[in-house]
Amino acid sequence: SEVSKPKRIKALDPNVVNKIAAGEIIVAPMHALKELIENSVDAGSTNIEVLVKDGGLKLLQITDNGHGIDREDLPILCERFTTSKLKDFEDLSSIGTYGFRGEALASISHIAHLTVTTKTAGSSCAWRAHYGEGKLAPAKPGQNAAPKATAGRGGTQITVEDLFYNIPSRRRAFRSSSEEYAKILDVVGRYAVHCAGVGFSCRKHGDSGVSISTPSAASTIDRIRQIHGSAVANELVEFEASDQKLGFRASGLATNANYHVKKTTILLFINHRAVESTAVKRAIEQTYSAFLPKGGHPFIYLDLEIEPRRVDVNVHPTKREVNFLNEDEIIEMVCSEVRSKLAQVDSSRTFLTQT
Ligand code: ADP
Ligand code: MG
Repeated sequence: SEVSKPKRIKALDPNVVNKIAAGEIIVAPMHALKELIENSVDAGSTNIEVLVKDGGLKLLQITDNGHGIDREDLPILCERFTTSKLKDFEDLSSIGTYGFRGEALASISHIAHLTVTTKTAGSSCAWRAHYGEGKLAPAKPGQNAAPKATAGRGGTQITVEDLFYNIPSRRRAFRSSSEEYAKILDVVGRYAVHCAGVGFSCRKHGDSGVSISTPSAASTIDRIRQIHGSAVANELVEFEASDQKLGFRASGLATNANYHVKKTTILLFINHRAVESTAVKRAIEQTYSAFLPKGGHPFIYLDLEIEPRRVDVNVHPTKREVNFLNEDEIIEMVCSEVRSKLAQVDSSRTFLTQT
């Protein structure tokens, strides 16, 4: 009988590779937005405005008042691995900024239409550039792709249109734009609580009002009040923990034993990046189970800073999962602080009712 011949192995077209890689980093509009917010915060912005259309699939626009981008850098802005934040591999272990490998804008440009308008303090005008597949692209076919001078305020506006336009299967997977908008609000809300000194707003295109609006001068408690309501903001206790040997510092706000809801909310930041951690969540829920009625859950904002060389932020392209050394010990120290704060409030209440 005849044996079939193997098919020849061929290299994929680089644009196909880039598109696949981009789709792994940017799974939903919220992931693009998270990268854009982190870039704006890195740029020293004190005000960040987000505008969303169709759950971010039609339009995702973020306007900041940060330091802007030099016109000379615009041609390579969306190439892969171009960054102003990292030079050597050694830098990876001590990186203080959010971004670290220059992949976000490149990725977005491979799966959406991207427009950047930016003005630095030293430039007399703003510059606008369009991008596709990592490169400068003309606004309309046949036009010149070079950045154009335009009027504009200091800072950067990034406009992402028609996300996943060239990945129809992904595009079809989104059923409800309100679901995607809810995820976008969750991301903006997290950074709005965490980023002291930065004002945030988020608006759905066509709506007259804003969904989120926090002034730059707002305190952390006021930020939580704005986004999560007074019921939470009025029942918060502050906690702090640190240890030199373990190389960490933690602070945060957590609801006391008088407050409980059906679902735990954890706003977790590790080195100023919003992340998720099942280990932290489990430990927090365990801690509260001694104080709350069955089925009751807390709200907690936890700002964790860990010596950069102890953190591995490079485990996955999406950077959502962060690993660090001595995870168990650090979590236990944080939870024990929270526990003692909860106990204090608990006993003072008991004391008050007894007298
Ligand atoms: P990374 O953040 O990892 O460097 P990005 O692709 O997210 O990679 O951004 C590439 C570069 O573009 C950044 O290093 C920064 O110099 C510049 N940049 C991106 N967004 C902004 C912004 N909002 N304001 C100023 N510079 C920006
Ligand atoms: Mg970035």
